[in-house]
This record gives sequence, structure tokens and C-alpha cells, in this order.
Amino acid sequence: MAVSDHVDLNGFMEGVKKRNPYQPEFVQAVQEVAEDIFEFMEDKEEYHSQQILRRIAEPDRVVSFRVCWEDDAGNIRVQRGWRVQNNNAIGPYKGGIRFHPSVNESVLKFLAFEQTFKNALTGLPMGGGKGGSNFNPKGKSVREIMRFCQSFMTELYRHIGADVDVPAGDIGVGAREIGFMFGQYKRITNNFTGVLTGKGLEWGGSLIRTEATGYGAVYFLAEMLATKGEDLAGKTAVISGSGNVATHAAEKIVQLGGKVLTLSDSGGFIHDPDGITQEKIDWVKSHKTHRRGRIEDYVAAFPKATFHAGKTPWGVPCDVALPCATQNELLGEDAKTLIANGCRAVSEGANMPTDLDGVHAFKAAKILYAPGKASNAGGVAVSGLEMSQNSERRSWKEEELQQMLKDIMSGIHQSCIRYGDQGGGYIDYVKGANIAGFKKVADAMLAFGVV
Ligand code: GLU
Repeated sequence: MAVSDHVDLNGFMEGVKKRNPYQPEFVQAVQEVAEDIFEFMEDKEEYHSQQILRRIAEPDRVVSFRVCWEDDAGNIRVQRGWRVQNNNAIGPYKGGIRFHPSVNESVLKFLAFEQTFKNALTGLPMGGGKGGSNFNPKGKSVREIMRFCQSFMTELYRHIGADVDVPAGDIGVGAREIGFMFGQYKRITNNFTGVLTGKGLEWGGSLIRTEATGYGAVYFLAEMLATKGEDLAGKTAVISGSGNVATHAAEKIVQLGGKVLTLSDSGGFIHDPDGITQEKIDWVKSHKTHRRGRIEDYVAAFPKATFHAGKTPWGVPCDVALPCATQNELLGEDAKTLIANGCRAVSEGANMPTDLDGVHAFKAAKILYAPGKASNAGGVAVSGLEMSQNSERRSWKEEELQQMLKDIMSGIHQSCIRYGDQGGGYIDYVKGANIAGFKKVADAMLAFGVV
């Protein structure tokens, strides 16, 4: 009798915990998926006997390396770098690079695991990967960041390639860092290929890549509201974060007639009861991205707003919420507060921002709740379109790309309904996204046999 016949969800999770000690983020991400997939697999013996979920939850490889660099004072600094190549059943590994002091193997394994499902949902041929370093870009000079990026790429270059693994940005890695890394890749290999996405427009980047994650999360939110015959006009939105995803989500909410009340960073959140208009969003973009400032400075520029140090914005009553900062920033209690205050829809712009208690609370309340692997897939989707443009050696027009992004988000929404419709007007988007993403990868893996 096959071993798998004896393994139920609890047994499976026990194994995951045992094999991945001290990796709580990774275990959490696997648990969230496994809860739905075990139910789906009940009558599908092949997925069980071929150990498909067990295989997806074991990265193809984890590369870990030392990154040495010299700071402006001449000190030698040593950081750790990683690339987690989780699964390439449906295309080259694809996923961002994160530079943040919280980065460790657990965080990158959870992100690479999530990315595998997210990328499958886009419908584009991309496998799942993620990389990064515990390097903290905060307070570093541009020259220090350049030297770090060059050193990081000097090791990473041997593991990536346009048809092998295509990294992009994530927290702490934007167009500037991608530029430094691409420059070093090109210098080492003498190859001008689409080995990274999120590139500058002059050297192979795609229009709307910068806006895509935030815009996509709002398109997804609009799709969810439409199932209830509603739209965003006149709705109040609470958003966390103030980086690329949060500011572009805010921008799209404003364009669609909504009112954005909050933004945040690691220091706390600002609450602007008048609404964060496009002009104010532009101020945040320039203050946070170009001047590397703090969100608390917003209240000096716009005095009607208040700053709440050390707090997250989930206690502010709203119609819709978009967690766009980082993992586990919205806990079970926060979810209950949002629901009690009348929040009707949550669209995640970050990766796994809601903890398991929060996910269960949203599901129990049957509100419209989209997990990041569905709602924030717009970013990697346009990365996929950047790869296509690089292969074709041409650039598509903005309108074409806008339409493709909208179509992809709407396609993901359809997939979620297909596998997540629970009847009685309730769609379990977590279940829908997990099953749709899993099925595509799983069926490809079945075709390849035991590898
Ligand atoms: N880091 C983004 C994500 O979490 C984008 C990845 C990419 O474009 O490859 O999906």
C-alpha cells in the first residue's frame, strides 16, 4: 500500500513542521494551501500517490551564499544571500528579490512557495522562485547600495538566466537596484538578455510594470465587488504600506472614485479623514521613494491628518481594506475589528499579510477576501509580459499592456470562482486560488513523471 494512503492533513503538516524546524512563515504558507488542497484531493488518488503537494512543498533547490561588500567608511561587511528555486514545472523560475533585515530562509521559502501558485494563476508560463538578503538598504548611501548589488549579483549570476530563473524586485529592491544588478550581470556574462524584470524603460523594461501590482490589486477588488453589484465609487479604503504597491493601489482607488484614508510604514500609520488625493499620493511617492523619508512627515505637509506611532491602520472604519506592506501585518484580532466595523472586502497587495487566524476569521464572516497570490499577481503578470517583449525584442504600447493586465486579473478572478464558489452567493477566494494554482502545476508535474 502506498505510504500516502495513510497521510491526512494533520499527518502531512506534522511532516512539514519536522522537516522545516524554525521556519514558521514557510509552515504557515504551506498550511494555508494544504487545508484546501487536501479537501480537493480527496477523490483524486493520483495527486496523493504521486506525492504532488509534498513535492511542491520541497523547493527544487535553495542556494545560499555570502555577500561581502565595503561600506563608505571602509569597513568590510558580510551579508547572507539566497535564491530559492521552488518549482519550474510550468516555466522558468520567476519571482522577486527582497532586501530587508527580516529576510531569512523561512521567509524566502514561503515567498517562493506562494509565488509558484501565484504565477500559475496568471496563466503565463512562469515557475516559482524568490531571493534576497538580510541587507538593510535603510540609511545606506547610493554607492553602498551599488556595491552591495554588484557583490550580490557576482554570486547570483551563475544560477539565473532568461530561460532558467528570472528575478525581479520586491521589498527594498526597485528600479535602481535592478539597474545595478543588471549592469553587473551584463558586465560578467557579456549577455544582454531578459534575465531580470522591472528594468528601466530604456533598457528592456515594460510600461506599467511599476504600477501593475497596486493597480492589479484594485482591479481584483473591483471584480469582487461587482459580484455583489457594487463598485468602488464613494467607498472608503484603508491601506497599509507606503511603497510601490500601496501608493499605486491608492492611486487606482482614487481614479475609481474611492476615498483612501490611511497609509503606513514600519513607524506607524497616518489617517487623513479628508482622503489621500492624487496630489497627496504624489507627495508620498516622492517623499518615500526619492527622499527615503518617513510617513509620519505627512502630517506636517497635510495638517488635518494624524499620525499613530507604532500602530497598524486596521482599527479605522472602512468599506474596503488593502494590506500592502508585508507578511503577517494583519492578525486575527485585526480581522475581527475590520469585520465588526463593517469592512466588506479585503484585497491583499502584499504577500501573506494576513495570518492564519485572520484568514479563518475572514472566511467565517464570508466577506469578500482575496489572498495575495490572486490579488497581487498583477506585478508578476506584467513581469511575464516584460519577458515576452524581451524575447520578441520589442515594446508593447501602454494601452495594450493595460488591457492585458485587466484581462489577466479578470481571468484570475474567474479561476477563483470556478474552484471557490461555495453556493449561496459566497466565493471562497482562498480555496479557489489555491486549487486553481495547484491544479495547473500538479498536472504538469504528473506529465513529467517522478522527477
Ligand atoms: N515581488 C513581486 C511578487 O511578489 C514580483 C515578482 C516578479 O515580478 O517576478 O510577486
